[in-house]
Amino acid sequence: MPPNLLDFDSVSLTKFFATLGEKPFRAHQLMQWMYRKGVVDFSEMKDLSSSLRTKLAEQAVIELPKIREEYSSGDGTKKWLFDVGHANAIETVFIPEQNRGTLCVSSQVGCALECTFCSTGRQGFNRNLSTAEIIGQLWWANKALGRDPKGERVISNVVMMGMGEPLANFDAVVSAMKIMLDDHGYGLSRRRVTLSTSGLVPAMDRLREQLPVSLAVSLHAPNDALRDLLVPINKKYPLSELMSACTRYLDTAPRDFITFEYVMLAGVNDSEMNARELVKLLSQLPCKLNLIPFNPFPMSGYVRSSSESIRRFAIIVREAGIVVTIRRTRGSDIDAACGQLAGEVSDRTRRLDKRASRIHFL
Ligand code: SAH
Ligand code: SF4
Repeated sequence: MPPNLLDFDSVSLTKFFATLGEKPFRAHQLMQWMYRKGVVDFSEMKDLSSSLRTKLAEQAVIELPKIREEYSSGDGTKKWLFDVGHANAIETVFIPEQNRGTLCVSSQVGCALECTFCSTGRQGFNRNLSTAEIIGQLWWANKALGRDPKGERVISNVVMMGMGEPLANFDAVVSAMKIMLDDHGYGLSRRRVTLSTSGLVPAMDRLREQLPVSLAVSLHAPNDALRDLLVPINKKYPLSELMSACTRYLDTAPRDFITFEYVMLAGVNDSEMNARELVKLLSQLPCKLNLIPFNPFPMSGYVRSSSESIRRFAIIVREAGIVVTIRRTRGSDIDAACGQLAGEVSDRTRRLDKRASRIHFL
């Protein structure tokens, strides 16, 4: 198989060009065609010599994921379903806001981490996405949305918060984020690219060293006993280790705080006592708290906390001096809200079978 040029970041594309006997600036020109101008047909790349275009067409491909469906919500949110082969599909969501436009990008087909309140986690896991499949989501969304009347790109921010755990697909995600940040690519600042993780501690340290973008950590519980139940990876990397990794991350982070995400589940993690325990935990480091009202999906077994308990919870944390935001639910009419992304996953972990047998033996 010839290499897919969308799989290369600037450094590896330059190396590939060297094997073709081409200079680094040619690789940068190609990146500008692909990402800045959205051109993926070699014959249209007019400032490349015709011999280079022929060489590229013979020895490489530019292959994007295929769009299967596009949905638009009444609130301006858009969602794309991409066919990534073998009965697998992933989803990407665009959320317009007053001063920014955010694209929520997927990193895996499904997720192996089994957080109990997450529809992606319930579906099981098939495989990691390639760099091309990750950056391809931004390519298509950017093509669809383009620039605003002032000439600015409509997509101003990217969040790695779609399907999958991005740090479990470290290399492909880092390469794709390098293209997002590259001046020859999408030229986004590290502040405008956010990676959300459920807390893979060793990979958080690698990210801190290799490409410290803005970080969001899915906390969801103020103590280990509850977090073990909601976010099972906590059994491997408990809160004390997670909080230390967050503090270390701040050394190189583009922002001087970590964002913690906390899904609000009625009667599970939303009591005043939970809020007070959370305040203690969060007082260790500069942070912001983002409360996410639970977005339901069929058979989830959870209920969204009432607005009143979310408000009460927020006040307790805010009064302790921590900045708290409550995430507005967007795009729920097209199943595009946080935790509702499902795509289509042919599960290879046989999770549903395992769960059924567990129930059988209870
Ligand atoms: N795997 C990464 C990123 C994807 S999930 C992570 O877990 O951080 C993006 C965010 O949506 C996470 O904070 C996740 O916990 C949250 N989420 C998952 N399911 C949800 C649901 N049903 N309702 C609200 N938020 C949910
Ligand atoms: Fe995976 Fe994140 Fe969902 Fe947990 S919340 S199952 S880590 S996608």
